[in-house]
Amino acid sequence: MTETLPASPSATLPANRAATPSANRAASPSVTPPVGGPPADPSAGPAGDGATARPAPPVHRGALWIGGRWTPPDTCERFTVLDPAREEVVGSVPAGTADEARRAVEAAAAAFPGWAALPLEARLRPLRRLLELLEADAGFLADTIAREVGMPRHLARGVQVEFALGVLRSYLETLPSHPFEQRVGGSVVLREPVGVVACITPWNVPLLLVMQKLVPALAVGCTVVLKPSELAPLNTFRLADLLAECDLPPGVVNLVSGAGPVVGSALAEHPGVAMVSLTGSQRAGRSVSTLAAGTVKRVHLELGGKSANIVLDDADLETAVGAGIRQACFNSGQACLAWSRLLVPEARYGEAVEIAAATAASLRTGDPFDPRTDLGPLISGAARARVRDHIRLGEREGARLVAGGAAAPEGLDRGFYVRPTVFADVHNGMRIAREEIFGPVTVLIPYVGEDDAVRIANDSDYGLHGAVWSASTERALAVARRIRTGRVDVNGAPFNLLAPFGGYKRSGNGRELGDWGVEAFCEVKAVQIGSGQAQVEIGAR
Ligand code: NAD
Repeated sequence: MTETLPASPSATLPANRAATPSANRAASPSVTPPVGGPPADPSAGPAGDGATARPAPPVHRGALWIGGRWTPPDTCERFTVLDPAREEVVGSVPAGTADEARRAVEAAAAAFPGWAALPLEARLRPLRRLLELLEADAGFLADTIAREVGMPRHLARGVQVEFALGVLRSYLETLPSHPFEQRVGGSVVLREPVGVVACITPWNVPLLLVMQKLVPALAVGCTVVLKPSELAPLNTFRLADLLAECDLPPGVVNLVSGAGPVVGSALAEHPGVAMVSLTGSQRAGRSVSTLAAGTVKRVHLELGGKSANIVLDDADLETAVGAGIRQACFNSGQACLAWSRLLVPEARYGEAVEIAAATAASLRTGDPFDPRTDLGPLISGAARARVRDHIRLGEREGARLVAGGAAAPEGLDRGFYVRPTVFADVHNGMRIAREEIFGPVTVLIPYVGEDDAVRIANDSDYGLHGAVWSASTERALAVARRIRTGRVDVNGAPFNLLAPFGGYKRSGNGRELGDWGVEAFCEVKAVQIGSGQAQVEIGAR
């Protein structure tokens, strides 16, 4: 199904390969002819988990997946995909048009009645097949994500791909017992699919975030148009290759790559779309909400964060602060759930600053395909410039730089790298404490007493995630209850794919994952069962 696939995972680039496209990638599509021959068997791509050798021939995708077939794009405009570690082209995808988005919606709308009418088990069958295909393809997907996102390959495999698999596995397990029908007194309450769903997704955790929407949406009977980020779309095209092998009826899943304001906007305003589910920035969330209001469609938003990590005075400081800095640097800080504000008791502030600085300094920044690497590059030159600007801003605001800084990491003059950075002497009014920086920057804020910690944590436009550390689980839980945020991890709890994920305040609305992620794609219908005798009484006569 692919147009061009890497020939071999172990292919190496010539050492002198010259290609350094603009650092500000994908600001607008370039005009290059689509490359690619006839659709290829996806199994031609390297499968399994052994592939870690980095360079591979670029993957140029020449078609969009609409109505169950790879459809040549309307125009020659394309988005170039860069390897942010090397600033080299690793592929390209069509810059879809508003017209193509509309055709994808029409295909999804045509497929909806038949798909929605199938029994649940018939809709789960293709998803079981998808699981087998994804498991076999996990290594290749991890390579693809490492290459286009710049995330260390071992994390791309262990987190991005593994969690995507985890979402699918957990839904296959839980969906058969989901209460799609409930008795409530004399009523039967039915969960029915909302309709055609536009899934608009970002680049930072691309496969997982597509799967969080796609799997429950398909399972409940929705049909879908996928619009991946223009910065890292290759893994979603690969997913479409696999979906094409799953015997899904034509039009049940469609994929249109392209610019947010073009394809995303066309989807958001299309009357045939019943729901837009967007994960991304506040800017995109606002625009989609405005456009969707025209047809009063459902809008589900998963947006950014500025999450607080509260270390209580009885916590093991070394563990809590160390884990906090590592979490905030995960994916080079390009994570919505990053604990970018570290709140520590004033009495232990000096000690905490030392641990934070030492932890940040110990993290290894470098080649995503080196298994020792902790942090890869940022996604783009524009992202690097924005994060460096924030670091300079922090210095101007009077914060004390104790690790990292705006200069490029030593020995990394190619690639969009930024040093793991820690600021001390930060107060919550500073812009570096209020704005989502989306880079490896943690600010340390002192507090005096639990109430102060809670006040600072809640003094944010965002409310997506957070953490509390304490020697007493009860004490930590009591604090967690007071934080206005969608998720709180107590004492380093592992990520739970069955628990809901989503934001308070400007971090969005609605929830993904678990039962809540299923309900998100359902309409609810109440059917009252009478005895056959008319018993309607309307007021006094
Ligand atoms: P982005 O908003 O630039 O892009 C996200 C998606 O929206 C892309 O597919 C993009 O093309 C599309 N888009 C952009 N403008 C649009 C518009 N006007 N209309 C329709 N679609 C539009 O965000 P990004 O840079 O890709 O991702 C980073 C942001 O995503 C951060 O704020 C991060 O916190 C957030 N995020 C949130 C979660 C979560 O679960 N809450 C998860 C990951 C990322």
